Amino acid sequence: MEPGTTYDLLIVGGGINGAGIARDAAGRGLAVALCEQGDFASATSSASSKLIHGGLRYLEHGELRMVRHALSEREALLAIAPHISHQLRFVLPHVRELRPAWMIRLGLLLYDHLGARSSLPSSQAVDLQTSRYGDALKPELRKGFVYSDGWIDDARLVILNLRSASLHGATLFPRTRFITAHPEHRAWAARLQSTDGRWIDVRARVLVNAAGPWVDEVLSATSATPTRPRVRLVKGSHIVVQRLYEGDHAYLLQNDDRRVVFVIPFGSNHTLIGTTDLAVNSPLTPMTISPPEVEYLCKASTRYLRKPVSPQQMVWSYAGVRALFNDHHQDPSSVTRDYTLALDQVHGSTVLSILGGKLTVYRRLAEAALAKLKPWLEPSRGTWTASEPLPGGAVGAGGMKGLSEELCGRHPGVPAALVHALARRHGTLTDAVLRGVHNEADLGIHFGAQLFEREVEYLIRHEWVQTGDDVLWRRTKAGLDMSAAERSRLDEYVRERVSRQGLDPSPARGGG
Ligand SMILES: Cc1cc2nc3c(=O)[nH]c(=O)nc-3n(C[C@H](O)[C@H](O)[C@H](O)COP(=O)(O)OP(=O)(O)OC[C@H]3O[C@@H](n4cnc5c(N)ncnc54)[C@H](O)[C@@H]3O)c2cc1C
Repeated sequence: MEPGTTYDLLIVGGGINGAGIARDAAGRGLAVALCEQGDFASATSSASSKLIHGGLRYLEHGELRMVRHALSEREALLAIAPHISHQLRFVLPHVRELRPAWMIRLGLLLYDHLGARSSLPSSQAVDLQTSRYGDALKPELRKGFVYSDGWIDDARLVILNLRSASLHGATLFPRTRFITAHPEHRAWAARLQSTDGRWIDVRARVLVNAAGPWVDEVLSATSATPTRPRVRLVKGSHIVVQRLYEGDHAYLLQNDDRRVVFVIPFGSNHTLIGTTDLAVNSPLTPMTISPPEVEYLCKASTRYLRKPVSPQQMVWSYAGVRALFNDHHQDPSSVTRDYTLALDQVHGSTVLSILGGKLTVYRRLAEAALAKLKPWLEPSRGTWTASEPLPGGAVGAGGMKGLSEELCGRHPGVPAALVHALARRHGTLTDAVLRGVHNEADLGIHFGAQLFEREVEYLIRHEWVQTGDDVLWRRTKAGLDMSAAERSRLDEYVRERVSRQGLDPSPARGGG
């Protein structure tokens, strides 16, 4: 965009909701700018359980509409992002005192049929004494149920949406904070500030407030002051331990407090256990897990698993804040997980705030946001994101297996295990990562855990990487399998490389 031009949309927040709206809008020919105060996906959108699911437990809260929408979105995401997602079988051990079997069976039947159509296997009852699904569980657990859901790499989902937005012409400002906006002739004059202190002025017809936990603060900075907070902040934490069991299935474990805890395979060598639900007052609350939360998760899994889980086993943890639409429920676990789109007018200028939502429904939320903004925008086409694969996602009829085989054939000098790992992050773009690589030496420095200089360079060039953490915990999860020394070597490399190149952090393009 030329300096001085007016964007159709200025989106505040580079989490999944901001990224999804940016992609959808840019693909419809709208002029889009997006700013993110930190690294993209550095807040809630990299701290989720990484499930694309309807949310079996929300059926109990009567959220049928939300579950139905989420189940159909699960299907759409598995199709447009097959490289960073996969289906997952969940095992739900039956404990009579917690929920009767008929209730679970009924819930699962509903879950199987609520979405319009499902490519995933249906639920079934299972004898845990004879099935492999029972191997990791305490021997006294006899009966269980198995059902299907989906898994997705949340942080990569954000990055791929932003890459797509950028390819459609969006201007992205990473590490750039929205400071304020003033209404001006039915548009907004906004001030942004990048982490290196530079001020950036942007004019936009409409402001989209996708600041997640900071949504109320951003709204206040536009002089649209809601009388009471529109979101409730609920912290959720996860722990990661060395792999607890064989098999690629997950567990859904019921707790006495009527909550459920997920136990999910995480990469090849680890197991993820989450989550907690704790009300917090501010997005600035330190986002680290507390000792009582660790205890809670260990206790919930030890109740069911053959091998006890103790806090000493924890190798990593992360925490994030759900910004839930404030429906004034007392219990944090009962607050609706559905989203609300709130329009405010300030002296004739429009701001749309995204309240609540789930990773799973981000695409649909983006469509709803653009439908709501129709009176102020003139898109050149209609909805399009349901069937257009995300970058790297057009894997072809052979699916991921076929793609991996083709890639191994095209890159015979690269170890097959590395090609598979790259395909799971980059899909068809693996060819771009490996361009000109003929043998292992061409991959450059090995930082550990299958992470080579070649991929790091690609991430710096195309995925807005500025620090080691961006690579270790968001663009990849290589940090989990690397030593502290390896991680700090990578961080030094990235920082040195970024400063040597004098890469301008904003605005940035992720195409190519
Ligand atoms: C523990 C936990 C588990 C979850 N598990 C799942 C799950 O398994 N499946 C699922 O579907 N959903 C899950 N969710 C919900 C899902 O993660 C969130 O709904 C989603 O990530 C919210 O995305 P967002 O873009 O609204 O917010 P965020 O990802 O928080 O993005 C908002 C962004 O705005 C930026 N920002 C704020 N203020 C400013 C400013 N002034 N200037 C510039 N940028 C600013 C922030 O830095 C942030 O990156 C989970 C949530 C939590 C907390």
